[in-house]
Amino acid sequence: TFIAFEGGEGSGKTTQSRLLAIWLRDQGFDVVQTREPGSTKVGMRLRAILLDSTHQGLSARSETLLYAADRAEHVEKVILPALYRGAMVISDRYVDSSLAYQGAGRELEPQDVVKVNSWATGGLVPDLTVLIDVPPSVGLSRFASPADRIESEPLDFHERVRREFRALAAADPDRYFVVDGLRTQQEIAALIQDRVREILPD
Ligand code: C5P
Ligand code: MG
Repeated sequence: TFIAFEGGEGSGKTTQSRLLAIWLRDQGFDVVQTREPGSTKVGMRLRAILLDSTHQGLSARSETLLYAADRAEHVEKVILPALYRGAMVISDRYVDSSLAYQGAGRELEPQDVVKVNSWATGGLVPDLTVLIDVPPSVGLSRFASPADRIESEPLDFHERVRREFRALAAADPDRYFVVDGLRTQQEIAALIQDRVREILPD
């Protein structure tokens, strides 16, 4: 079972993927908790390149390809091996982040981003994608100051990202679960657990 978390900056994906992993492990599941970019040896170097704030003005196309390269490594080295041995995989971000950030955020042709990513992943799609939805003004205010290249983007960039995530969720309600990121950590965790219960293997 493959579960992805998506959402903008400061939405709480990392916290909630950790809470979900703990909850699943308590029930005896083998859980691999992972994230993008940067969950492989090469991916860690790609993450450093991608988030380096001295790389302002990195071409949108090379940005897209570097995220896709990170994702190809992630799928082949981490996600697929875990799924094959029957583990539950929880990924903090996946393909839809590229549709939101590179597609909507950088204003690339969505079909191009889809194509590059389906090739990079061999077509692997999550069983469930949890979108933690928060207004960017709130999410960004959860950090003291912008920490990386993307967090420093203007608010309208982040508004486009949010709109795209919501549109992706609305277009695929069977795969997507949207949760209001303004609720408390405990409430959000409980809502996610209720939804995940529906897809747990016996
Ligand atoms: O989730 P996390 O904050 O660790 O992600 C690192 C950064 O990468 C974020 O600032 C996010 O905006 C950016 N990102 C991106 N495009 C993706 C995935 C992540 O711009 N496809
Ligand atoms: Mg971030």
